[in-house]
Amino acid sequence: LENLGLALIQAESAHVAHNYHPLPVLAHSAEGVWVTDIEGKRYLDLLSAYSALNFGHGHPAILAAAREQLGKLTLTSRAFHNDRLGPFATALSQLCGKDLVLPMNTGAEAVETGIKVARAWGYRSKGIAPDAATIIVANGNFHGRTTTIVGFSDDPVAHDDFGPYAPGFVHVPYGDADAIAAAIDENTAAVLLEPIQGEAGVVVPPEGFLRRVREICTENNVLFIADEIQSGLGRVGETFACDREGVVPDMYLLGKALGGGIVPLSAVVANEDVLGVIRPGEHGSTFGGNPLAAAVGLRVVEMLASGEFQTRAKALGEHLEAALQALVGHGVTEVRIAGLWAGVDIDPAYGTGREIAEKLLARGVLVKDTHGQTIRIAPPLTIRATELDWAVEQLRHVLSA
Ligand code: PLP
Repeated sequence: LENLGLALIQAESAHVAHNYHPLPVLAHSAEGVWVTDIEGKRYLDLLSAYSALNFGHGHPAILAAAREQLGKLTLTSRAFHNDRLGPFATALSQLCGKDLVLPMNTGAEAVETGIKVARAWGYRSKGIAPDAATIIVANGNFHGRTTTIVGFSDDPVAHDDFGPYAPGFVHVPYGDADAIAAAIDENTAAVLLEPIQGEAGVVVPPEGFLRRVREICTENNVLFIADEIQSGLGRVGETFACDREGVVPDMYLLGKALGGGIVPLSAVVANEDVLGVIRPGEHGSTFGGNPLAAAVGLRVVEMLASGEFQTRAKALGEHLEAALQALVGHGVTEVRIAGLWAGVDIDPAYGTGREIAEKLLARGVLVKDTHGQTIRIAPPLTIRATELDWAVEQLRHVLSA
C-alpha cells in the first residue's frame, strides 16, 4: 500500500503541472471533518479546501440534493431555462438582501464578473468617460488567478512574469479608509475589498474600517464590492464578514462554500440598479447557473438561512481563540481570528509555516501555511469543540518538540 501511495504521488508529480506544492498526504475518502488516506490513516481537516468545505465533507443534506439532481438534469446552458436556477437565485438574493444574482463557477470568475459589472455601471449609470473607469484595490489582496486579477496583486509570486497587465486599478493600504477617500476621483467606479484578507493570513481590518468604507462609497457614488468568497457563508460567525460591522456592500462576490464542497459555484449578488446594467449577450458562462450547481447551492443557502452554522462558528471561534492565545509566547507570535478562521504566526525560531504544517500532518492534522510563517486554521463549521482541542494540543506538541 505504501508503494502504491508513493506511485500515485509520483504519477501526479510527473504529469500534473507544478503550480502547487502539496503536503505529502494522499486523500482517498472523507466524512465530516475527517479525511482518510489510502492506507486508512485519518486526518482532521483544518483547511476545509480554503473554506469551500464549510459544511464538512459529504454533508448528508448537500449530498442528497446533489444525488437527487444528478439523476434528473445536470446541464442546459443558459440558452434555455432550467427549473433549479430560479429557486436558487431567489433564496440567495434573499439571504443577501439583494435583488439579483449572476451565477458563475469559480471565485475568480465572480471577481472578473464584478469588475465588468462595476465598469459597465460606471459608464452607463455614473457617466464615467469611455474606458476611464478605475477600481480601488488593497495592498495584500488576493482575488484569484486570472490575468486581470493577478495584474493588481502586489504578491510577486502571483504577479510577476504574467504581464502585460490590465490598467485601471489603484492601490491603497489595507485597513486605511482615509487612503480610500483620498484615492477616489471622478473616474472611480468601485472599491473592491476582502472584508478580512484570507490569503494574506487572516488579516482583520481595524474596527470601524468597513463602516467608514461604506460611508465613503455612498458619499462619492462609488460601488463597494465585498469579496466574501473566502470570508462569507458562515465562516466568521455571521453570514458575511461585512455583518460584523453591520455593513451592506453594493455587491457581494461569493464562491467556495456556495457549492457545498461538491461543485464549483460562484455568484455576484447586487441590486437591480447595479447588476441590471448587464444586458443579454454581454456576459455568461457555459456552466454558470447549471441545474446541478443550483440544486446544491439552494440547499447550502437553506442551511445558512437557519443561522445554525453561523452561531456554531461564533461559539467555537471563541473557544478556539482562547486555546490559540495560550500558545502566544510559546512558539506562536500572533493570532488573528474571526469566527472559525484563524491566522497563526509561527515564531521563526520554531520553524517555517511549512515545516510546522508537515509536523502537524505527521500527527494527523491537515493545515496549510501561507506567506512563510503563517498557518491558517479554517475547519469545517461542523467540527466539535473536543476535536478543536485535540488539534490545538497537536500544535502545542509540535511547538514544544
Ligand atoms: N477571492 C478570494 C477572497 C479568495 O480567497 C479566492 C480563493 O482563494 C478567490 C477569490 C478565488 O477563488 P477561486 O480559486 O475559486 O477562483
